[in-house]
Amino acid sequence: MPSPHLVLLGGGHATLPTLARAHEWTAAGIDVTLVDPQQHLYYSGMVPEYLGGVYAEDEMRIDLARMAHTAGVTYIQARAETIDPTAQTVATEAEGDLPYDVLSIDVGSANPAVPAPAIATKPIARIRTLATQVQRTIDVPGAELRLIVVGGGAAGTEVALNVTGRFVGTGRRGDLDLTVIERNDRLLPGFPSGMRADATARLRRRGAKVKTGTTVTAVEPCGDGTRTVRTDTAPDATADAVLWATGTVGPPLLHGSPLPTNDQGFLCTHRSLQVQAHPRIFAAGDCAAIDDLDLAKVGVHAVKQGPLLRTNLDRTLRALSDTKAVPQPRDLKTFRPYPLTPLILSTGTSDGLWTAGPLWAVHPWLLRLKHWVDRRWIRPYAPTQWGDASWRDFLGAESATSPGRVG
Ligand SMILES: Cc1cc2nc3c(=O)[nH]c(=O)nc-3n(C[C@H](O)[C@H](O)[C@H](O)COP(=O)(O)OP(=O)(O)OC[C@H]3O[C@@H](n4cnc5c(N)ncnc54)[C@H](O)[C@@H]3O)c2cc1C
Repeated sequence: MPSPHLVLLGGGHATLPTLARAHEWTAAGIDVTLVDPQQHLYYSGMVPEYLGGVYAEDEMRIDLARMAHTAGVTYIQARAETIDPTAQTVATEAEGDLPYDVLSIDVGSANPAVPAPAIATKPIARIRTLATQVQRTIDVPGAELRLIVVGGGAAGTEVALNVTGRFVGTGRRGDLDLTVIERNDRLLPGFPSGMRADATARLRRRGAKVKTGTTVTAVEPCGDGTRTVRTDTAPDATADAVLWATGTVGPPLLHGSPLPTNDQGFLCTHRSLQVQAHPRIFAAGDCAAIDDLDLAKVGVHAVKQGPLLRTNLDRTLRALSDTKAVPQPRDLKTFRPYPLTPLILSTGTSDGLWTAGPLWAVHPWLLRLKHWVDRRWIRPYAPTQWGDASWRDFLGAESATSPGRVG
């Protein structure tokens, strides 16, 4: 058998360790191809603080084309349309059918039922539209922004905290009319009650409205560029921008796919990240539902799966090269999640909100810890932006209320 061909479908957070070390395979004559319609991956951990003005766009994105080029990987900038596991091909609109011997899928997740006039948080790069609107408002004295965030989970709440923090920090608190609408009876469902209360109180102190127990039923465009937001409990509201942060479902690529998916449309995998009954196909990150684990769709898990995905792809490629057969399950490593999922949210002020399971804490050093974790993580993938950073930069205390990096 000639050298196997590895196709990386989606350059998500879980794929970065694989891409970073892909030169080891390409140097040995193994063909590796990356397929992703987006040249840049936006690091989700930094996105709320990007809206808060702490980060510039190029500080929180990873150039997938550059990483591929450096590693000798062929980069196809295209969206995969279908996967045919029988023919072992991936179909892309731009390039037709692409054959693979081993396939790694890391295409993330999708927002359910996004109304066309709303800004989806998936794929996360779409949030740049909101960043542009926030920046334009900040740049023009007296301009106002009416923003409705639909979904008060971790993503929606952290965005709301950072956008309100930014308007407060620039002395423009009165120019932002921000409402968070959440279907559950509290913000941050599933998080410790003290943390929920802390985040809600911070938002209200900054003039934001928090409407819980309310479901958005429609978002409609108005002729003047604004949107009408209809809900099941309150009168209609008008907004300049609507952010749709309502959780996740399986990505469109997997709709109707012959691969095994659960009832939310995520790929069923073993703890080795192998797709069930398809030992040549691996899946990681949000798009994967691992055996008996019910993991939240957060980047923390995608990031933890990254090195394991790389190891198991390596063992599979070696086995195919040496024995022409896929490795036995016992020869692959198995994923062990964190016992409690750790998260640190930026509050938009100098505080970080840390949580893991039922535990939570709030303190300025937790924001520094978040910066240290985020900046250390992105550094090897974004060397142009972060390569020269010192430990002081990593532990920086910049926040939306004291923007230190972006004007
Ligand atoms: C505002 C916000 C803030 C967040 N903050 C945090 C946080 O602080 N901590 C945390 O743990 N999680 C956070 N999350 C969740 C986090 O974003 C996701 O869990 C994480 O991005 C999942 O990574 P992934 O590897 O599954 O795929 P992603 O990083 O989503 O990447 C998927 C890649 O696949 C590509 N792709 C998609 N479809 C196709 C296709 N058909 N063909 C080819 N390529 C395709 C995309 O272009 C993209 O590059 C946040 C989410 C949001 C919305």
